[in-house]
Amino acid sequence: MNIFDVYPLLDLEPVKAEGNYIFCSNGKKYLDFYGGHAVISIGHSNPHYISKISEQLNNIGFYSNSVQNPLQAELAQKLGALSGYEDYQLFLCNSGAEAIENALKMASFHTGKSKVIAFNKAFHGRTTSALSVTDNDKYTAPINESNNAIFLEINDLEAFKQEISKGDTCAVLLEGIQGIGGIRLFEDSFLQEVESLCEKHNVVFICDEIQSGYGRTGAFFAHQHAGITPDIITVAKGMGNGFPVAGTILSPNFEAVHGQLGSTFGGNQLACAAATAVLEIIEEEQLIDNAAIHGNALFKKLNTLPRIMEVRGKGLMIGLEFPFPIKELRQQLINQEQVVTGVASNPNVLRLLPPLTITKAEIDHLFTALQNVLTQHVYQ
Ligand SMILES: *Cc1c(COP(=O)(O)O)cnc(C)c1O
Repeated sequence: MNIFDVYPLLDLEPVKAEGNYIFCSNGKKYLDFYGGHAVISIGHSNPHYISKISEQLNNIGFYSNSVQNPLQAELAQKLGALSGYEDYQLFLCNSGAEAIENALKMASFHTGKSKVIAFNKAFHGRTTSALSVTDNDKYTAPINESNNAIFLEINDLEAFKQEISKGDTCAVLLEGIQGIGGIRLFEDSFLQEVESLCEKHNVVFICDEIQSGYGRTGAFFAHQHAGITPDIITVAKGMGNGFPVAGTILSPNFEAVHGQLGSTFGGNQLACAAATAVLEIIEEEQLIDNAAIHGNALFKKLNTLPRIMEVRGKGLMIGLEFPFPIKELRQQLINQEQVVTGVASNPNVLRLLPPLTITKAEIDHLFTALQNVLTQHVYQ
């Protein structure tokens, strides 16, 4: 059997990883400014993470959700304490797309409606409903197109007011910071208006923090920079540091009804151990502060790069827009400087999503690497 060839691959085969580096089969070591797609939050091969997962696996790795599993409550409590959402409720699943599916489903149960206001260039996952609220023709098949989703330009308050006042909206769905779309930010004032208009019109406000959450932007959730509280929050990427675990976080206004949501693998003992270890390390190593401090320092420097058009983002979620496609630049960062970075759906945007454990020396390394390739090569 062959692998179904859906990804353009880099010529890299990681065989080991430690801290903020990956080690490849070519014998070289690469600085990880991509985090395996914003997934590696606490760095690679953290000893506490490894031992917590190993111990759990030695005891019990999996049993179905039909039995008691106090590890789930322990995880929910820790997540509530660190995020400031103590009174919210956690539903555990396995991937970001599932967290979105469950969020949309709960919003629809709650309101009895189905229209969703989403935003241009949004990405919410690859299942059928998640794609129906994703704005990218490359990912979407005819079966994913729904009449339920309306896409608006980000920060267009007039269009938003007009749409939501029609009274037929079930949910507003937006990313804390748009990730794959090219690191695009919602204005604080726009988010505050969304929050109050959702409340006024009885619309469920869903914030997708799958990429922007878990401390990456220097707050536990990116939306917290705007001082707002959505009704539902989705989490995934940084939550398990690579172990597949995700969550739909619901306000106390949502009442659980047996049968409405469920998952075979979701919230299993091993997933809970991994996710709890991640939170313990985020807290212990003060990684949210680290993201803020190093992210802000890096942000200022990046604006001085040659040929840079715009630097966007918060904390360690940064997009660099150039006046040329970054494909070659990214390849040269790998070949010449041994630094791995990420792409976006906008071909001119390079995405920086390092582990939150990144150090000042590694930030400097990245900056020098960028300076080197930008001064030594001609890009057009
Ligand atoms: C990656 C991502 C998803 C989808 O997560 P999967 O685990 O790949 O299903 C959804 N929303 C955002 C913002 C993402 O970045």
